[in-house]
Amino acid sequence: MRRGTGVVAGALALLAVSACASLPGSSPEFDEVGEHVAAPAATPSATPPPPPRNVFPVRAAAAQVHYGRAHHDYPATDVFAPCGSAVLAPAAGRIAEVSTADTWSSARNEGEDRGGLSWSLAGADGVRYYGSHLATLAAGTRPGAAVTAGQVLGTVGRTGSARGTDCHLHFGLSPICGPGDWWTRRGVLAPYPYLRAWQRGTQRSPVAAVAGWKARHGCPKAP
Ligand SMILES: [Zn+2]
Repeated sequence: MRRGTGVVAGALALLAVSACASLPGSSPEFDEVGEHVAAPAATPSATPPPPPRNVFPVRAAAAQVHYGRAHHDYPATDVFAPCGSAVLAPAAGRIAEVSTADTWSSARNEGEDRGGLSWSLAGADGVRYYGSHLATLAAGTRPGAAVTAGQVLGTVGRTGSARGTDCHLHFGLSPICGPGDWWTRRGVLAPYPYLRAWQRGTQRSPVAAVAGWKARHGCPKAP
C-alpha cells in the first residue's frame, strides 16, 4: 500500500510540474511554443513602473511644510511642519541607529544628545538618512529593522536641541559610517534640492553626491 501511494504521489508531482511549466508567460519555453499564436504586442505589459526610490520624509499639507536652503554651521535641512505630523522613511533600507531618549541639556550641549529622539537609516541605495527632534518613534523604528520607503517612523517634534523652536524634522544626508559619528550622521550635503524634488513627486537621488563626498572625506573619526 505504501509503495502504491508513493507512486501516485510521484505522478501527481509530475503533473504539478508540467502544469506549472505550461502556464502562459511563465517560462521561455512557452514563448518558443507560442510564437505562431501571439505577436509580442498582444502580450499585456507585465512590468509596472518601478516604485519611487525616495519619499519626502514628512506627511503634511504642502502649505504647512516649510524649509529653506540654509542651515546653521553644517549642511542639513530643517523641515518645519505641524507638531505630530508623520515622519516617513525617505528610502528603503535598514534602521541603523535609534535614540529613544531625550537627554539633551543646554548646559552640556553634547553632540550626541542634540538630536533628541532620532533615527538613522542605512538606505539600500548606500546613502545614510538621518531624522531628529522627533516627538515619538513608531514601534518598528528599531536598530536592524528593515523599512520600506514611506513607512512611518515617528512624528515631528522638538526634542533635543530643538526644545525652544517650532516643531521640525532635522534631515541629514551622509555616507554610511559610524556608529556613533554624530558629526557626520547629522548631515554633510545639503538635502534641499532632493527634498524639493521628492515633495514634487519627482525622483532625484543623492547617491552620486554622497559617494563623491565619501571618496574625498572617508568616514571622519572626530568632529
Ligand atoms: Zn537642523
